[in-house]
Amino acid sequence: MSDLIAQNLATIRHRIAQACEKAGRAETDVSLVAVSKFHPIESVEAALKAGQRLFGENRVQEAASKFPELRKSFPDLRLHIIGGLQTNKATDACQIADMIESLDRPSLSDAIEKGVQKAGRLPELLVQVNTGDEPQKSGVPREEADAFIEASLERFGAKIRGLMCIPPEDEDPAPHFRLLRDMSERHGLPVLSMGMSADFETAIAENATLVRVGTAIFGARPAPQS
Ligand SMILES: *Cc1c(COP(=O)(O)O)cnc(C)c1O
Repeated sequence: MSDLIAQNLATIRHRIAQACEKAGRAETDVSLVAVSKFHPIESVEAALKAGQRLFGENRVQEAASKFPELRKSFPDLRLHIIGGLQTNKATDACQIADMIESLDRPSLSDAIEKGVQKAGRLPELLVQVNTGDEPQKSGVPREEADAFIEASLERFGAKIRGLMCIPPEDEDPAPHFRLLRDMSERHGLPVLSMGMSADFETAIAENATLVRVGTAIFGARPAPQS
């Protein structure tokens, strides 16, 4: 399993390099977030041994059960919370994450502000935009996004690094990536988190700086623990 993860990582890094070259971008402009949700700690360790340092987890509780221990051996490890975040998990998220990619509503901003006081640290933040306006999905609705980004910048300043989106599964992702890119340019934000296993090359062509890849590195996800 460990070899397979190392191989998969090498393949993905190579594909990222190729996509950057094709887009006329520097390879160093794109960082790979290895999404380890539902995978055991051994899988994360295999990726760490293969040189991967940046990870994404959806659930705060699961992240808290895996990563603080690993940080002791790998102090340069970085963790992003990428899933929809409940307000009652905001303090824990502030405690363990280097970046929260899923800021999407004022009540969560309030909870993060309180969490920062308790945790004594404020992770970097991305605003998640629901580019497809899908009712079941997290993310600020498209219409409200510009105003929410401005309010978030006023509130958190430079800690707001950029934007994140997850396009609808059954649509061409490119227009969604383009929409997010335009939005980030309007607000002068440097980080664009977009693209997953199936579409990260398309996202790189649209200026993604973070691609979140799970399945193509760790394989199919086991059922969640709870
Ligand atoms: C699970 C997940 C990913 C990874 O998806 P894959 O298709 O397995 O690469 C990326 N982003 C978010 C927000 C996720 O929840």
